[in-house]
Amino acid sequence: MAPDFQFSEEPGHHLRWRTVECCHTCSYYYVGKDKTFGFGTSIPFGMTARQMNAWIYYGGGQKLLDDFYSDYNVLSFAGGNTGTQMGGWWRKEVKTVADLKGVKMRIAGLGGTVFSALGVVPQQVAGGDIYPALEKGTIDAAEWVGPYDDEKLGFYKVAKNYYYPGWWEPGPVIHFFVNKAEWAKLPKEYQEAFRAAAFEANVTMMAEYDHKNPAALAKLMQSGVKVREFSSEILKATSKAAAELYADESSKNPAFKKIFTEYDKYRRTQSAWFSLAERRMDGFLQTGK
Ligand code: CA
Repeated sequence: MAPDFQFSEEPGHHLRWRTVECCHTCSYYYVGKDKTFGFGTSIPFGMTARQMNAWIYYGGGQKLLDDFYSDYNVLSFAGGNTGTQMGGWWRKEVKTVADLKGVKMRIAGLGGTVFSALGVVPQQVAGGDIYPALEKGTIDAAEWVGPYDDEKLGFYKVAKNYYYPGWWEPGPVIHFFVNKAEWAKLPKEYQEAFRAAAFEANVTMMAEYDHKNPAALAKLMQSGVKVREFSSEILKATSKAAAELYADESSKNPAFKKIFTEYDKYRRTQSAWFSLAERRMDGFLQTGK
């Protein structure tokens, strides 16, 4: 399953010194070091799983990411996705932007930065400590992944409002990172076997989540969970705060600006396409309207 914990070092640290030759993780755990690490995984209001695959495999994303990672001596291979995540577990309902003020939420990375612009107080809490913190009220809300992973950790027992969508993670990619010098040592056949295995992991993780989430969601709903949609007011305000963050970061971080410019252009072309057949078909199939 998707790893979801904090690292104090960038992926290049261990790979650069070759403590390990390879790892499977999310680049966005390192946004504290450089916000540019967000793009490889997911940025708030960014691209979905399918759109990330299109960007990475065909839209120039692979090269942009690897150019950035080359400063850390690593190569990247997409190796899984959770799909759009849920918006987490909230002890109290939030309907307006005013309701967000002072809410202590376990949320990491750029999503936390965006939320903090609207008064949420992001908290860094490791996976195993979220449940007791939520139970005691040390935190008021916590986000994790989606029904399958969330149900296992039992958050529904201590916070009944389960929001969607997790706008901070529209389609987070989990990557394999490989030390460049170690990669170069591999025989060509091994490189190809690795590449094929990464493709397989990329497809099967998403399929496994799509398979397991419906049953977990049904179980959660039977436990009295209130599934709620974030209001348009909250989505519009957070999306505006995200755009402001991207403009601000682009003005002072050339690496961020370089990828954001291309990423955002690509996302817009994807939205234009997905807004037609996919959107209408999904909408009708799921609601009958
Ligand atoms: Ca998450």
